[in-house]
Amino acid sequence: MSVAGDTSQTIVVAGGSLAGHTVVAELDRRGFTGDVVWVRGPEGTAPYSRPALSKELIQGKVTRDTIRLPVPERYGLRLRVLDHAVCARLDPDADRVLVTRTAGAGEEWIPFDALFVCTGMRARVPAAFTGLPGVHCLRTLADAERIKERLAGRPRTVVVGAGLIGSEMAASLRSCGLPVELVVQGRLPMEPVFGAELGRFCLDRHHAHGVTTRLGATVTGLSAAGPRGPVTLTYDDGERTSADLVVLGLGAVTSCDWLDGGGLDLSDGLGCDAALRTARPNVFAAGDVANWWHPVFGRRMRVEHWSNASAQARHAVESWSAAQEGREPAPFADVPYFWSDQYGLKYQMVGHAHGHDEVRVERTGADGHPFVTYFRAGRVVAAAGVNAPRAVMRMKARIQSEGMTTQGVYAG
Ligand SMILES: Cc1cc2nc3c(=O)[nH]c(=O)nc-3n(C[C@H](O)[C@H](O)[C@H](O)COP(=O)(O)OP(=O)(O)OC[C@H]3O[C@@H](n4cnc5c(N)ncnc54)[C@H](O)[C@@H]3O)c2cc1C
Repeated sequence: MSVAGDTSQTIVVAGGSLAGHTVVAELDRRGFTGDVVWVRGPEGTAPYSRPALSKELIQGKVTRDTIRLPVPERYGLRLRVLDHAVCARLDPDADRVLVTRTAGAGEEWIPFDALFVCTGMRARVPAAFTGLPGVHCLRTLADAERIKERLAGRPRTVVVGAGLIGSEMAASLRSCGLPVELVVQGRLPMEPVFGAELGRFCLDRHHAHGVTTRLGATVTGLSAAGPRGPVTLTYDDGERTSADLVVLGLGAVTSCDWLDGGGLDLSDGLGCDAALRTARPNVFAAGDVANWWHPVFGRRMRVEHWSNASAQARHAVESWSAAQEGREPAPFADVPYFWSDQYGLKYQMVGHAHGHDEVRVERTGADGHPFVTYFRAGRVVAAAGVNAPRAVMRMKARIQSEGMTTQGVYAG
């Protein structure tokens, strides 16, 4: 069956961020002329650049209007956009999804010929830390705007968690001139991602810019003294401190609980095969939520990076299209890539360092920033650098081509 010109099909796209946006745009680009119901989720905003939240938006360099993603062209498809609406259930016995309005404005079952699950992740916030004035997580534009509102009062800030978002937030808040303490549960910021060498580099940058750090510490309690009063933080060693603004960077959890009971693998995100097809032949996944078999690394993985979400979304549409045309789809084999901006430096990483058994560190550029290559059984599996885009991208190409010629060699 031809993809273009089939006006009888209905496709539901769940998720209103990069992956969902890209699925809609790709269906349109390929000439799909049926119905697309785009359920964009609870946020009630048009898709925007999420990475800008912890960087340019907090720093006041962009606004909510300038970070919007471009609107898909819409050549022939019939698009119905549902905002303030979530996919709440997948019928186990029929191809239909229950959509509920978050403002309590009713629900409807929407039958589909294909469903793309692009519901991503939400911030991980322990129940005891939820709803406290002065305590914020950062996943959505609304979260970022709530934090920004607080900055005018020049708050003493504590950032809890030193992964990508915690480290970026510490850097951005510091660049706004605020006093910042960064609580690092492990030994070094970003160490679980980058390893010790770049973790040490990241720590030194925070110190050089006047951030104080609390290493090897866990926040065990938070309490707030009223809507504008200080927040008291209690640590695992019993010490207490106070702050006017606490930002939690404690990671994120996948938003796929709504698929429970729908006959799909939900053991870590939404399980798919190498071509992003789930256990139901007409249900596909893309973006942060997708857990797929990576042919280059010979293992399952989930990747929480911006460029992965768009590339996977295009590939999921290709897999759907292949099914329409009776072709076997190709595996999604892109080597993961992400970046992080802190204090005017661009950290970039490619590949998948999981299970590496050797690290080589070189110094690059006039500033001698570390460039780290990660090996497994003698083969390059990942690389990371600071302000070294060309070197990082060369390694991406190398991992991609070596992996594709000896597929799955990194497994084990
Ligand atoms: C502050 C921040 C900074 C980041 N910086 C970087 C960076 O520098 N580099 C990088 O590579 N990556 C970065 N990322 C990660 C990147 O933003 C994500 O990888 C990307 O947003 C994933 O896109 P997605 O569409 O898969 O999911 P998400 O962006 O999580 O979007 C999921 C969408 O689904 C909606 N939704 C949820 N549940 C439902 C439901 N039941 N029904 C319908 N809709 C639903 C949500 O409201 C949302 O619109 C950052 C993330 C954050 C939060």
